[in-house]
Amino acid sequence: MGNLPEFRNEPYADFSQPANRQAMEAALESVRARFGREYRLRIGGEFLATGDTLNSLNPSNTKQVVGVHHKANAALATRAVENASEYFSRWSRTPAEERVRLLLDAARILRRRKLEFDAWLVYEAGKTWPEAEADVSEAIDFCEYYAREMLRLAGPQKVVQLPGEHDELVYLPLGVGVVIPPWNFPLAILVGMTVAALVTGNTVVLKPSSETPTIAAQFAEVLLEAGFPEASFTLLTGSGAAVGDVLVQHPKTRFICFTGSRDVGLRINELAAKPQKGQVWIKRVIVEMGGKDAIIVDADSDLEKAVDGVLASAFGYQGQKCSACSRAIVDAKVYDPFVEKLAQKAQALQVGPSDDPRFYMGPVISEGARKTILQYIETGKKEGRLVAGGSAVPGDGYFIAPTVIADIEPAARIFQEEIFGPVLAVSKARNFEHALELANDSEYGLTGAVFSNNPEHLRQAQEQFHVGNLYFNRKCTGAMVGAHPFGGFNMSGTDSKAGGPDYLLLFLQAKSIARKVG
Ligand code: NAD
Repeated sequence: MGNLPEFRNEPYADFSQPANRQAMEAALESVRARFGREYRLRIGGEFLATGDTLNSLNPSNTKQVVGVHHKANAALATRAVENASEYFSRWSRTPAEERVRLLLDAARILRRRKLEFDAWLVYEAGKTWPEAEADVSEAIDFCEYYAREMLRLAGPQKVVQLPGEHDELVYLPLGVGVVIPPWNFPLAILVGMTVAALVTGNTVVLKPSSETPTIAAQFAEVLLEAGFPEASFTLLTGSGAAVGDVLVQHPKTRFICFTGSRDVGLRINELAAKPQKGQVWIKRVIVEMGGKDAIIVDADSDLEKAVDGVLASAFGYQGQKCSACSRAIVDAKVYDPFVEKLAQKAQALQVGPSDDPRFYMGPVISEGARKTILQYIETGKKEGRLVAGGSAVPGDGYFIAPTVIADIEPAARIFQEEIFGPVLAVSKARNFEHALELANDSEYGLTGAVFSNNPEHLRQAQEQFHVGNLYFNRKCTGAMVGAHPFGGFNMSGTDSKAGGPDYLLLFLQAKSIARKVG
């Protein structure tokens, strides 16, 4: 295969350029022309119509059906795991270089279809153009990064050579992996978890989120076009509640790779821990869950930059990122001017259909999400002082105004619970130590940021701010593959550090071989 060029993050298209704008408009039009297509299940090369379908809607305009998907049931879930188990013996022996070659082909196809994927994300996930472009770029990054990582792990590993022996360590795949991604990075996270499992030689049953099954189906086509064997993965669309337990509990499931909410992650962890009849291993569980991420604004900091960093982190993709800032913790000395500037800028953010690039914010993902978020806003109004937003925005989609609620105490529900929408709690800290204490007053520990010009405070935060991804003087969203390996502490998950050098090891087991020589 030769040496691959050094990994570089995929550049983003600049939509202020007229040519890129026109190309994106054309991609949106072409995707709209494919709305409403019916997608069957495909298990082991056979296309199946169960007749029990789910419609995925455009959250910006709920009259539009993006895709119609046949749903799997428990029997088909069982069949998918069994097929994957059968094929594992072949796929696991496919040379790593061959698997890497297929993965690099998948990256090339994604790059070729990038704007088209952007458009699917705009319509099915409600991402604005730049948010969609970042998501698709990250998906390409995962493919390119894990391809290189697999080559490293397939090569000779350093072990001590005892006299009279040849000693080695080789990495082997685990078996059947059940991959369960969320809808909020419907391409990047789905691709990252799936290709990490496949390139390491595992077979995969991929259960996408019911909110974004069309994006998943488009990606399954990419894998097939790249040459991944039909039996190496199954895309098993279906309700998490209906097929999730079956997949997790099946005795031939070897590992589960999940990203989503805390409650579902904990349930998976619990179910997977119980051995089933005929099961001969301890299932490995990789679960990445929620966040209640805080940004600390120190007394000595650039207030404009801090306001912009908090705004981007809180309201980018409508606050529906696990890394989103949902708590701004501000030193009392700058609290009032900070809240005033933040409220002004939040009120100025435009909300509307995500295919129209004039809007900074699109819709939230579903009617259910909108209802929950609006309930939290009502709770927040009682717990603090509403300074921006506070209601739904009229339209054909699930729009909510960017909402800021100030004077929130740490016991408040909106300080402690993940809302997963455009709602920001602002709290006052007596000093920097108190700010750190408030930031750590959470069961989660995913991302965090500090705006400060004080090197001693940054040092203190480095030591004490208990999160998996910490940022100084910048926003707390937008982790880049390779540079910011991603994963959280405590109830945020197993700290798997996606996009980093430790990640693929989670999909492998090491075998030590000692050979007597001479
Ligand atoms: P979710 O937990 O509702 O669903 C995640 C996935 O689990 C979906 O595919 C869903 O269909 C499936 N599922 C639901 N019930 C299941 C069950 N009983 N068994 C098996 N699978 C089941 O989460 P979501 O709403 O899709 O995503 C939002 C959540 O994901 C937020 O909490 C967010 O913080 C978190 N998230 C975390 C990270 C991270 O890296 N830590 C990244 C993105 C999102």
